[in-house]
Amino acid sequence: MNNFSYTKANSVDEVVSLTHTNENNKIIAGGTNIIDLMKYFVTEADTLIDINPIDGIAEITELDNGGIRIGALMTNADTAYHPIIEEKYPILSKAILAGASAQIRNMATNGGNLLQRTRCYYFYDINTPCNKRVPGSGCSAMKGYNRIHAILGHSENCIAVFPSDMCVALAALGAVVHISGTDGDRTLKFSDFHRLPEDTPEIDNNLKKGEIITGIELPEKGFSKNYSYLKLRDRSSYSFALVSVATGLELENGIIKEARIALGGVSHKPWRVKEAEDFLTDKEANPENFAAAADIILEGAVGFEHNSFKINLAKKAIVRNCMMALDPASQRPGAKPSL
Ligand SMILES: Cc1cc2nc3c(=O)[nH]c(=O)nc-3n(C[C@H](O)[C@H](O)[C@H](O)COP(=O)(O)OP(=O)(O)OC[C@H]3O[C@@H](n4cnc5c(N)ncnc54)[C@H](O)[C@@H]3O)c2cc1C
Ligand code: SF4
Repeated sequence: MNNFSYTKANSVDEVVSLTHTNENNKIIAGGTNIIDLMKYFVTEADTLIDINPIDGIAEITELDNGGIRIGALMTNADTAYHPIIEEKYPILSKAILAGASAQIRNMATNGGNLLQRTRCYYFYDINTPCNKRVPGSGCSAMKGYNRIHAILGHSENCIAVFPSDMCVALAALGAVVHISGTDGDRTLKFSDFHRLPEDTPEIDNNLKKGEIITGIELPEKGFSKNYSYLKLRDRSSYSFALVSVATGLELENGIIKEARIALGGVSHKPWRVKEAEDFLTDKEANPENFAAAADIILEGAVGFEHNSFKINLAKKAIVRNCMMALDPASQRPGAKPSL
């Protein structure tokens, strides 16, 4: 780890001014990702700016439009167990609790979750070429061990996936990210927040220099009656998703009025395909229709030597998760899924 200074910031403006003047001044929130990256020499900082003393961005606020705003500094644990999240947005609670461990969720913040970096093994190993870490150096995963890598939206420069669980639910819910920077405050639709690697895989998202995330807004509709989050991974706990699916359905007498399906573990950003959701509208909620929607979602999927299995796995996961969403009680520990 390189030498660095440490300072505490008391306001959003203070953070913006410190990060804008020097790109090597980095924010620390829970520290569960940035400290690892510094220890592995993947990233370095001149100054770590601790944003924990900032007031007003660690709570949930109910909005006049019926939605809520979740503070960026609120921990993943406090968010998942908050009564409003459990009742109105259970899909978010479930996705957060599928991630990491209780200890990590107690430290990890919501802003940090959106900005965590990929878990590609080569990204963390500074002795190997990696375009995301050192642009132009090559991609070791392309012909290396790529079991956990992308099947959708990858480029010839990078096949990494974005590893968050929480963000898969936020994508399905249609969240909005609240941001502050030198030009004031702005919002970004969740679908526009993370980006695909294209030929600049070193850039994970559309946050600009010096900007800080202050909150995440959720619309009123939380799909609390028919929802499910399914995470498939190599170990049953404390492991990142090979494939995950967040589903929210609005049903009327077994007919789908609105569908939301987002995938995790398959791309550089949470993967949502509007055409598949439109296809399901006004159709019967059954495995055949969910399988047809899965085919639309996975159109163009391409695997590599060690991860082609993910295409079939994703298809089955989508169908199974949509069926589980018909009966959220089936998600209780020990309960059998409906398919
Ligand atoms: C062993 C392990 C297992 C894990 N398993 C999972 C898992 O299964 N699923 C999952 O989803 N996650 C998992 N995680 C990741 C974990 O959820 C993230 O590390 C965590 O959410 C990051 O939050 P943090 O507050 O600790 O971020 P930090 O480490 O403090 O910061 C991360 C990045 O975000 C920036 N940052 C933080 N807050 C802000 C802000 N408000 N505005 C702008 N920039 C900001 C920092 O500068 C840094 O670049 C795991 C982590 C570990 C260590
Ligand atoms: S997949 Fe991306 S992060 Fe992994 S080695 Fe290739 S360029 Fe680096």
